[in-house]
Amino acid sequence: MKRPYNFSAGPAALPQPVLEQAAAEMLDWHGSGMSVMEMSHRGREFGEILDQAEADLRELLAVPAHFKVLFMQGGGLGENAIVPLNLSRGGLVDFVVTGSWSGKSYKEAARYCNPALAASSEASGYTSLPPPATWRLRGGASYVHVCTNETIHGVEFQQLPDLRALGCDAPLVIDCSSHIASRPIDWSRVGLAFAGAQKNIGPAGVTLVIVRDDLLGHALPVCPSAFDYRIVADNRSMYNTPPTYGIYLAGLVFQWLKREGGVAEMERRAIERSTLVYDFIDGSGWYVNRVDRSCRSRMNLPFFLPDDRLNEPFLAGARERGLLQLKGHKSVGGMRASLYNAMPLDGARALVDYMREFAASHG
Ligand code: PMP
Repeated sequence: MKRPYNFSAGPAALPQPVLEQAAAEMLDWHGSGMSVMEMSHRGREFGEILDQAEADLRELLAVPAHFKVLFMQGGGLGENAIVPLNLSRGGLVDFVVTGSWSGKSYKEAARYCNPALAASSEASGYTSLPPPATWRLRGGASYVHVCTNETIHGVEFQQLPDLRALGCDAPLVIDCSSHIASRPIDWSRVGLAFAGAQKNIGPAGVTLVIVRDDLLGHALPVCPSAFDYRIVADNRSMYNTPPTYGIYLAGLVFQWLKREGGVAEMERRAIERSTLVYDFIDGSGWYVNRVDRSCRSRMNLPFFLPDDRLNEPFLAGARERGLLQLKGHKSVGGMRASLYNAMPLDGARALVDYMREFAASHG
């Protein structure tokens, strides 16, 4: 079955083979007589699913042994509270605000600790990244928070900041929700990474947390037990009922990623897809992307037509061609094409072909 190309920023397109496998296994998982949705999370079958998902993810992202992998709930915004509840010790935390998502993290943290703005790219309309050498990091901060891919503004760190080289001992916390598994992660620079699943990993409802062992066990007394990383880790993500079906689907995505060549291959494809679209936008003289070339996101590509009155006709024509969910986020306007791991190169080509035709007939 040929499906439309889905450019949603999230929940987003999943690899078709994954959906097909989930459909085939819906009524009877591996001869168990049960759907994964109907299994006890404490049973042998789900235990296998969880173990395999964690092992595959560790392999894909080369997660070192001194990090725990937690499958949690609450989404990215939940982690905006859960991270400070676990890591801040009620003290100083430094934030780098490079778009909507890190802005929300900064605001939420004030409920639990003493956050400060180490750097911001607000003055550029979040079209650039403040160079790490200019960050005002405070000695004694419990951690430094960065969103490594701003889904709405389309800004991505092409390299993780090296806090130690900046004279800062605090662990780096990264919100990598919208580009996880599209590029390798340098764990030597990271203390904790979190990601909502609903872009590159699986359906909404699973939140992945990968945390260095020494950061466990420091939760504030008010931290809910179900969100205390130490308790979640000690119970292998099963202190309370985990989002079992979402974890199963994420596991199928991890196996698909491995079959397709892993994260290195995903990175190669992401560069190829996004370069195709950015090069077309830049060369068109008609469409515009305002993000500095040094930090354009490979995953989320916002772009504008010369006249907002063309937005609706553009979207309608796109839908007719089977190019879905291209409308930009309301805070930015225009269009946004999200090109996650599941987007084939042909999807990016179909988008560019349509954009070329639309410009020729409306330019
Ligand atoms: N961080 C980033 C980078 C995101 O893209 C999103 C969702 N688009 C969130 C956090 C919030 O995630 P959730 O809706 O799962 O709370």
